[in-house]
Amino acid sequence: MPEPKWAHPEAIEREYTKTLKQYARRCQRACNELLMPEVPRLVEMAGMRSDALGESEESDEGTWADRLNEILGTVLAALLGRRAQQVFEGMAGPASASDVGVAEFGERVSRFNLRQFVKLVRRVYGEPYAKAEPDLDKLMRAWELENLKLIRSIPERYVDDLQGVIIRAINEGQSATDLRDTIRATYDKPVNRAQLIANDQIGKLNGRLTQYRQQAIGIDEYYWRGVLDWRERAHHRRRERKSFKWSKPPWDGHPGQPIHCRCWASPKWPPRDEVTLQ
Ligand SMILES: [Zn+2]
Repeated sequence: MPEPKWAHPEAIEREYTKTLKQYARRCQRACNELLMPEVPRLVEMAGMRSDALGESEESDEGTWADRLNEILGTVLAALLGRRAQQVFEGMAGPASASDVGVAEFGERVSRFNLRQFVKLVRRVYGEPYAKAEPDLDKLMRAWELENLKLIRSIPERYVDDLQGVIIRAINEGQSATDLRDTIRATYDKPVNRAQLIANDQIGKLNGRLTQYRQQAIGIDEYYWRGVLDWRERAHHRRRERKSFKWSKPPWDGHPGQPIHCRCWASPKWPPRDEVTLQ
């Protein structure tokens, strides 16, 4: 019997990536609208500070670092949906992590995974997989919460990093023009991180569902299978077709759990009387 190919939920992953990237692009818009106009004044304040080092630092306006904190606080508040929503007028995509529809994406991955598993089981045993899946909710909910946290961390981490970037640039004595370029050069960061999160999380969920369903019918072991392209980790390649126990994951986790891992677990099918399909 030719082994059926275990497909990756690529279309769902693409759509999740697109949605998270749309959300991440709001970081750029918020900076353009709320931070960029303040750059000349910030640089000016920093210049004044270095002219008058010492006691006189505490003017009514505070230091440039205080002002920077304030501006970035406004940027983050806008990104987290707490204020200044008009900043994002006309932008497509979710306005907040809770707008992403994480639960729906999770459901789609689960249905995709289920269709494949049902097909595979029918092929091997001549009967479909028809388990009740009582604990699946817990698994789905954990994934959902993890994703919401990760999505919220996109603007949070970005603004945090940006603060460090700006402080270094100002301390180096960058002009307003240079500082604007420095800020623009960070605009891809949250978008790239969104892509990384989306790819990683869809694969992780698919892997967890595979484990859940295989163990549900009584499959205790699997064969490690990889995509076998140049992107696959060398130590995953070395695991190709070797068997592993679900109860004893390798040091970096079962297939799909290490970051960006696209490997999958091909069931080691027990005899029919050792599995329960209903
Ligand atoms: Zn892998």
